[in-house]
Amino acid sequence: MNKPEQSATTIGVIGAGTMGSGIALVALKAGFAVILNDIAPEMLERGRQYIKKFLTRKGNQAALERLTLTANLEELAGADVVIEAAVEKLSLKQELFSRLDTICPPPAILVSNTSTLPITAIAAAAASPERVGGMHFFNPAPVLPLVEVVRGAQTGDDTIQTLVKLAEQMGKKPVVTLDTPGFIVNRVARPFYLEALRLAGEGVATYAQIDQVVQLGGGFRMGPFQLMDLIGIDINLASAKSLYDQTYGEPRYRPHRIQEQMVQQNALGRKTGRGFYIYNSGAPAVEMPAPPPTGRHSGAVSISPGDWAPGLLELCGEAGYDLGAHADLPVVGLVVAGRRGMMDYACSFDQELPPDVPLLCQAAGTTVSEIATWLKHPERLVGFDGLFVGAGQAVTLAASPVLSDQIRRAAEQFFVSLGRHAVWVEDSPALILPRIVGMLANEAAFAVGEGVADEETIDRAMMLGVNYPQGPLAWAKSIGYRQIVAVLDHLRAEYGEDRYRTAPLLRRLARIEQLAREN
Ligand code: NAD
Repeated sequence: MNKPEQSATTIGVIGAGTMGSGIALVALKAGFAVILNDIAPEMLERGRQYIKKFLTRKGNQAALERLTLTANLEELAGADVVIEAAVEKLSLKQELFSRLDTICPPPAILVSNTSTLPITAIAAAAASPERVGGMHFFNPAPVLPLVEVVRGAQTGDDTIQTLVKLAEQMGKKPVVTLDTPGFIVNRVARPFYLEALRLAGEGVATYAQIDQVVQLGGGFRMGPFQLMDLIGIDINLASAKSLYDQTYGEPRYRPHRIQEQMVQQNALGRKTGRGFYIYNSGAPAVEMPAPPPTGRHSGAVSISPGDWAPGLLELCGEAGYDLGAHADLPVVGLVVAGRRGMMDYACSFDQELPPDVPLLCQAAGTTVSEIATWLKHPERLVGFDGLFVGAGQAVTLAASPVLSDQIRRAAEQFFVSLGRHAVWVEDSPALILPRIVGMLANEAAFAVGEGVADEETIDRAMMLGVNYPQGPLAWAKSIGYRQIVAVLDHLRAEYGEDRYRTAPLLRRLARIEQLAREN
């Protein structure tokens, strides 16, 4: 395909709704001629107004001259590439592609912007499926940089190459993905919502607490409930249902009753003024407290060996605490060992430390109630999420079933003295972030294993498509694959569900990591 500024390369866009108008605007801004088609003349006019507003704001009204509006599909005949963004219905898309196949003969390329439907099934309606592919833009298309270029079972290599180049010419960052349910982003992001819904459904934490932990502790731009409210709870539910159905009931994608109930009440999120939060006051839906100021503190901290709380030792040192495995009269005892060392260290600290000293045990891989059963003084036990405390601004805490009020205050004060906002949740397997991030990494590893895309591509797609602070697989590597696998094994053991089975790739990476440590 020629560069747009050299020739009148023409893009046809079908559907002048949210996505079609956005895609048409992106194409016009990139210098292409655009033929925008919709069956509804009022949608065409709405699309034109939307495009005009943005082009005018940028002083680029001239680009409007390259826009043609039509309610007649036949008028797409001159297009080099047609991007279909009509409603999400397979039979409708198949009918469109069957007609396009004759209206736009080869070498024209035909693509769908579908979020959830199989490209292979859409392409099957065309006589020449090798020139049919997917170009999945993200909403809002003029803002979000990612485009998933989808390779259907019969899509030709040259079609994929042309689409990658076209996306780049449109100023986007393309990633190529296999035609599997949810492609990359909608699939790998599923645990972000579904694990959060389960946590809320199990009464582990409120929507606001989960959002606080995820945003402040994990560095995500938005928490899962804020994001579902923005996307639309009905749309999010439809994505989960589609993945669940297309995979014949994969338990990781099972929708949650809370979503269904929100839809039944028409509490769809921002668009109806009410979802997980209420939006009528103009105030922010959920408060994100500033992290407490750190100061210089005195006292000693007794800390066990272990690699389940990266950065915590440094944090204690920066706050002025004396460190050591057997510090004299410590203000707290910290156990940061994994599951194997947990019992030994928790029990020996419990024996050595005076009973009024809080015993703080990392609880990403062992529940607090289980640790409590090993101790002589379970009333001094608090579990914390060690894996994320070093990098985040918040720490998740879970109380022993018999925790004393005095220890509760002292434990909270200690984490506040490290500059961490403390969020108390109910004791539960893997708490909040290890469960959500662990399941994101697991989903990404399953996708790599199934050939959807390679590790680097999946990580890039998640950062570009949904603004994750790190790609899930790079994140798992930096936390430790062994820790992530241990978190998943813990979830599986506690819930007894296939949903938490570990991706073979992740387990292999953990073993390689283990070998590298031992050699
Ligand atoms: P929308 O409802 O805003 O717009 C759909 C448009 O298609 C409407 O204007 C409608 O009149 C038009 N239309 C319906 N039948 C048509 C036909 N036969 N010929 C021409 N036009 C027709 O929908 P949307 O949110 O823009 O989604 C469009 C597509 O993009 C869907 O496949 C959706 O899955 C996908 N998508 C949506 C998003 C999103 O966040 N909204 C993101 C990525 C992809």
